[in-house]
Amino acid sequence: MKNLNSRRNFLQKGLVAGITGGALLSTFGNGLQAAVDRQNPYSNPADLKITDVKCGFVRGALYVKIYTNQDVWGCGEAVDAIHGTYHLVMRMGNQLRGQNPLNPNRLAEQIRKGAFFGGAQSGVFVAVLTAIETALWDITGKVFGVPVYQLLGGKFRDKIRVYCDTALYTSRNPSPQDYADAAKGAVGRGYNAVKFDVDDGRDPNKYDRFNWTASPAEIERMYNAIAAVREAVGPHIDICVDMHGRYDAVTGLKMAKMYEPLNLMWLEEPIPADNPEVYKSITEQTTTPICAGENIYLAYGFTRLLSESAVDIIMPDIQKAGGLGEAQRIANLANLYYVPFSPHMVASFLGAMASCHVCASVPNFQVMEWQIYMDTDDLWKDIVTYDGPRTENSFITLSEKPGIGVEINEEGMRKYAVKDVPFFE
Ligand code: MG
Repeated sequence: MKNLNSRRNFLQKGLVAGITGGALLSTFGNGLQAAVDRQNPYSNPADLKITDVKCGFVRGALYVKIYTNQDVWGCGEAVDAIHGTYHLVMRMGNQLRGQNPLNPNRLAEQIRKGAFFGGAQSGVFVAVLTAIETALWDITGKVFGVPVYQLLGGKFRDKIRVYCDTALYTSRNPSPQDYADAAKGAVGRGYNAVKFDVDDGRDPNKYDRFNWTASPAEIERMYNAIAAVREAVGPHIDICVDMHGRYDAVTGLKMAKMYEPLNLMWLEEPIPADNPEVYKSITEQTTTPICAGENIYLAYGFTRLLSESAVDIIMPDIQKAGGLGEAQRIANLANLYYVPFSPHMVASFLGAMASCHVCASVPNFQVMEWQIYMDTDDLWKDIVTYDGPRTENSFITLSEKPGIGVEINEEGMRKYAVKDVPFFE
């Protein structure tokens, strides 16, 4: 408020000094004053500086909060490759302190290429950078009074379609009937697309813990489970099947071919996503759409998969792959190859809404992941603050609030925090 007042005083003094004539002063002065009043009262962009970066860890996620010298802050989230990264967050925070946060792309690139070797970086480094980059977009939206999608160039859609991961993988040896029941349960909640994992390291029909050529009984199990789902939900519900990149090319191709009559929306990572040549071979030999990318970082990571037509659909994780700006670049790159963008998503509603802003901003968005336990488990409600509905009939309505539109709830998060790691300190 102090900065706003000083700006207002400066403008008023300037007007009084530069304009003579009472009528002109009152008309022009009031208009200018109204324009000043429309500015976000919490921030004076030119004088904004990052003062601190703090973080907390909850289960498999990192939550970052970036503070400034004005009454505005930003939140971001990263998942998966974040364990043990407290000191990396502090290091990146030190690089940001004193800088104006309103250039998310530039600051992220500065950190990405600013390490000792000066290279692009990957893995844990990029995952942590993702949370920080996201928080910078949140601040920027709040300061200019616009939702993040507006900063990304505007929106193609108001609602983001989600598919429901039924989390049946938490059950031991689920039967085809269990799959069918889980699918009907998700459809009963309003979802029009579902996902199931079929890889199962505990399958008693598996002969070898390290060799992932599926046995005939494993293949039968994987097929029967999804056939039961199709039978249960009928022809108009989309079905995704995930093999988590655990199988070899022999099994991956066999499953893709077997699933063809079930008309899947996609088969996800039948093999690891590291070798585009093998992906291309499987993709070319089946009519089942092949999808990959949750373990790939940065737009660079997707270049060969796309340029070699190795996959039909990409699924980057927007809380891991490099941030909101980078995810938009990945989606736009895919769009040049007419490939749909269908992000992986296991984050809280903060990450979900951050992802929604990216999904809204690109033409080729198809569908985003949602986990059924986010509808039911208290943790997901406790750790963030959001006053609207989360999913309704397989859609998330895009937030129109400045920034991401969802805040970290530090008090709600504290009871779930990873022990013996500083928590927003
Ligand atoms: Mg997956």
